[in-house]
Amino acid sequence: MPTFKPGVTAIVGPSGVGKNTVIAGLIQRYPQLHIGSSLTTRPARQNDLPGRYIHVSKDEFMSRDAAGELLEWAEYASHYYGSILPDKKDVNLILEIEYQGAAQVRLKVPGARIVFMKPPGGTIEEQLAVLEERLAGRSTDTESARNERLVTARRELEIGPTLADLVVVNEDVETTVDEIAAVMYTHLES
Ligand code: 5GP
Repeated sequence: MPTFKPGVTAIVGPSGVGKNTVIAGLIQRYPQLHIGSSLTTRPARQNDLPGRYIHVSKDEFMSRDAAGELLEWAEYASHYYGSILPDKKDVNLILEIEYQGAAQVRLKVPGARIVFMKPPGGTIEEQLAVLEERLAGRSTDTESARNERLVTARRELEIGPTLADLVVVNEDVETTVDEIAAVMYTHLES
């Protein structure tokens, strides 16, 4: 069982790539890891993990950011999302965020590790086709919300890998969990 030292790992990737499943796999395997909570103006969904999001109005989001509560924030598909600063410094923190937030983490958190997850496919068109199929199987979004997410996904697939310390192709959840865990502990123990 590896010992993880305190640190921040941001897991970044387009909607539908499987970040939630991979993070659930990481935490199940390594219960000493914690996932950060975020403020969001997006309405709650039935399958949101308990404690993952605090749903607020735009005004509350802005005033809590002004009060210094957020490590980073970004607008995504017409809603605001921001990582709440952890209250303890000594945690192994996983942030599940989009790429603009990851760029802020890179600047603000020395030693943060940024992992970009992408779907299988040799070209961005092939990768988008995989995401489209996965998002279509999800009943959580309306068609227009899905389309907005796909437009954003193209930008994320273009820019995300340029920000990352590690790019993983999420074909098989267990393999992706192995790959991410390996960079976390070699990085954090060094
Ligand atoms: P969803 O609405 O699917 O839960 O999240 C939409 C996108 O926002 C995903 O790419 C997710 O990683 C990202 N996201 C969630 N929380 C945060 C956050 O606190 N900050 C940033 N920058 N992105 C976030």
